[in-house]
Amino acid sequence: MSDGSIETSDAPETPGAIGRMRRHLRAVAPGWWLVLTAITITTVLWCLGRAAMPQPTPFLSWHGPSLLISAWTIALLALLLLANTRSRKIEPFFGGLDRAVRLHRQLGPLTIGLVLVHVVLYLPSELDAGGTAADLLVPFYSSHGNQGFNALILWLVIAWTGLAYVKRLRYERWLSLHGVFGPIFILTSAHALTAGPTINAYEPLRFWMWLLVLIGSGAWLYRVVLYRWIAPRFHYSVQSVEQTSEHTLDLVMRPKSRRMIYEPGTFVFINRPDRDPRELHPFSISSSPAERDLRVSVRMVGDFTRDLLNLEKGDPIEVFGPFGGFTPHRYPDLRRVICVGSGIGITPFLGMLRFEAINDDFRRIWLYYIAKDAAHAPYDAEIREAVPVADSYVDYELWETVERGRPSAEALLEATRPLEGISVMLCGRPEFIRDMARQFAEAGIPPERIIAEDFHFH
Ligand SMILES: Cc1cc2nc3c(=O)[nH]c(=O)nc-3n(C[C@H](O)[C@H](O)[C@H](O)COP(=O)(O)OP(=O)(O)OC[C@H]3O[C@@H](n4cnc5c(N)ncnc54)[C@H](O)[C@@H]3O)c2cc1C
Repeated sequence: MSDGSIETSDAPETPGAIGRMRRHLRAVAPGWWLVLTAITITTVLWCLGRAAMPQPTPFLSWHGPSLLISAWTIALLALLLLANTRSRKIEPFFGGLDRAVRLHRQLGPLTIGLVLVHVVLYLPSELDAGGTAADLLVPFYSSHGNQGFNALILWLVIAWTGLAYVKRLRYERWLSLHGVFGPIFILTSAHALTAGPTINAYEPLRFWMWLLVLIGSGAWLYRVVLYRWIAPRFHYSVQSVEQTSEHTLDLVMRPKSRRMIYEPGTFVFINRPDRDPRELHPFSISSSPAERDLRVSVRMVGDFTRDLLNLEKGDPIEVFGPFGGFTPHRYPDLRRVICVGSGIGITPFLGMLRFEAINDDFRRIWLYYIAKDAAHAPYDAEIREAVPVADSYVDYELWETVERGRPSAEALLEATRPLEGISVMLCGRPEFIRDMARQFAEAGIPPERIIAEDFHFH
């Protein structure tokens, strides 16, 4: 264990408004920079295409913006599909798979909104041309051109994107309905590529739009159709399954051949080939990368997690990963860190703490395990054993909510003053994470220093 003095690598922050702006820009997830880049390229090319057209309709006629918005929609849908590929090569562009999935969820409503604006702005042109709103909105009502087909696509995009936000659907059903979005994207693109006069008039724009369509459909093909055959995986077998409390268990797996190299705090998808080769469930890794065996610590909430108890030594497990960016090693300037794991959200911190025994990368850490009471904190004893042998200086506290209620950011920050250089890592249920992240931000922690994982892909 170290003596507690902190070697800080914090770069001096630029003071004032410029410094604040820089910090806010750094906090923007990389995926949003991709979105901004794609929208900018689309807009620039579209404007150049417009200028190159012999007789474009005036931009301010609503027709022009309506067409530009439909091109944006294709760009966003392509990125929405790319964000969900679950590929280790792609996830760094989004700052980790967890952030990619978050972006995927945020782009859905944004895209529906743009589709609706596209239709509303297009309406005046349709009325000018002697058509009616029904021509645009009722599938196969219109007798001219592809209008009836376009109306069908409109409703398909709205219905399928809306479906993704229906919480009551069972996860597997939701996922398989979600998977049908690829063909809908291809139909939407076909509409934009054939109906858009600007796209057809300007070769660089047409090339760019085709590239987006290829990216989106390639991402869908990889994720939904080919993933279970070609995605890289590691073959493990069950070493032990130990029930750690009434609702939790530890699944320890041993590599059959190649061992997966990972950073502590990342997560994997595991699959039981004996059950359903398509069913992949994400779990944070709770072992240390220095260990041969891979451990996940699981709360039994449904059929897959409960059925893990029936596994026997030697049963095969496929491991996909590692994924995610919830690891302190990606943030070298996080030297003073408050770690908060609520309930089963403690799991990534278990792996980080085990790694601390040999880490040799000193940090000042305050670790809080939030649980109802000691009986609902099955990993409390393990953490207490690991803290004294950690290389970093760790203050650990089990926060029992029956006695003290839910913690507030102010209460957790109290022990760590001064706040300079403090960062926060949060893991647990989405509502808890949202609430704590908001409180820490209000207490003055810069957004790029609040790193969260919310165990939620739905
Ligand atoms: C990045 C990440 C890390 C996670 N780490 C852990 C962990 O370390 N320990 C732990 O106990 N749990 C973890 N979870 C949650 C865990 O994946 C789900 O509890 C588990 O998949 C539930 O499966 P089930 O069939 O038993 O339950 P169900 O009753 O089928 O599902 C319960 C809920 O879990 C989610 N879920 C179900 N199936 C999947 C799936 N295939 N993929 C993604 N989400 C699903 C859905 O939100 C669903 O509503 C993590 C989730 C994510 C996204």
